[in-house]
Amino acid sequence: MKEDNSYESIKEIFTEYLKKHKHRKTPERYAILERIYSYEGHFNADILYNLMEAEYRVSLATVYNTLELLLECKLIIKHQLGGQFAQYEKTFGNNTHHHLICTNCGKVREFTDKQLRISIQSRKFAHFQTSHYSLYLYGLCHKCKLELKNG
Ligand SMILES: [Zn+2]
Ligand SMILES: [Zn+2]
Repeated sequence: MKEDNSYESIKEIFTEYLKKHKHRKTPERYAILERIYSYEGHFNADILYNLMEAEYRVSLATVYNTLELLLECKLIIKHQLGGQFAQYEKTFGNNTHHHLICTNCGKVREFTDKQLRISIQSRKFAHFQTSHYSLYLYGLCHKCKLELKNG
């Protein structure tokens, strides 16, 4: 797995992508990238917008537009977790974790598993280099399980 997770190398990936596709290299876009990479966990466009507002004012349109660009160059991933809003998280420098998703209320919990990590990292695939992975386990959260049983 690729280990160079420094912010400089992340920025370089973005710069290369913007150049190649003839997008403008605006300070707003880099400020958003930097904010995302200093944030731990999942976020949606609104959360990001509010975080940005505190330190570097950008429009909601710029947030959405930058999220699209970052998705295209694979610096963030988009989770379709069944909730109302798409959730995003950074691709690199994120501790590998997995997701427990409640199919009833859409609540997401994260977990890590050392055994899984060891077995996936040692697994070699022909003509394929793994960069990252994530598992999604679907089921019912504690609250929903109780509700459904009693309801
Ligand atoms: Zn996650
Ligand atoms: Zn639930």
